[in-house]
Amino acid sequence: MEQQLRILIIEDEKKFATALRAGLNAANYRAKSAATGEEGYFLASQETFDLIILDLMLPGCSGIDFLRTLRGHGVRTPVLALTARETVEDRVEALDCGADDYLIKPCALSELLARTRALVRRGKSVQVPMLSCEDLEMDLSTHRVTRGVATLNLTAKEFEVIEYFLRHSGRVVSRETLAREVWRTTERATPINNVIDVTIARLRRKLDDPFAHKLLRTVRGMGYVLG
Ligand code: CA
Repeated sequence: MEQQLRILIIEDEKKFATALRAGLNAANYRAKSAATGEEGYFLASQETFDLIILDLMLPGCSGIDFLRTLRGHGVRTPVLALTARETVEDRVEALDCGADDYLIKPCALSELLARTRALVRRGKSVQVPMLSCEDLEMDLSTHRVTRGVATLNLTAKEFEVIEYFLRHSGRVVSRETLAREVWRTTERATPINNVIDVTIARLRRKLDDPFAHKLLRTVRGMGYVLG
């Protein structure tokens, strides 16, 4: 299954963010949005995106602050800056701080999609890190997951779960943490726990069943640990 490309939208204007997210999802991207730079930075530190669409005019931490922090931490995800201001200085500052391209708002969705395609293409040639644990490897640029010489055929959710485990390997990850960080819900009810249990069971079938050495262990009453 082809993994959908992930896009993070950082935009405080709710209506615009919602329309943008809907437009990108309709174009077969997987878009998430954050209303502040802080929230955006949190999401960007939790998972890997193929593109960040960043409004420069944000309350609190500005788009420029966000860019400086992001690039300062060595994150090279392509960034498309959106600006309402038509001043040259604004655009220059964004480009100087590490934005890859910009668009002036209001912009047509078709143009934004065209820029998105171009940036994602360009971004793919940038080297993206590998995550690994023992013989399990995840290539974040191709979204390919392998164990030894075998390629694991994962669903999008299984991929997200294994990515989370890889980023926290050797540590116990509770169901509550998975619910919050991967399913993005703070629900404490049985249905979400069942969904998590079923996903973990399916993941184990692909990740561990064919191998003598098991990577994903259950820590009774606490959660799961990879490696
Ligand atoms: Ca704004």
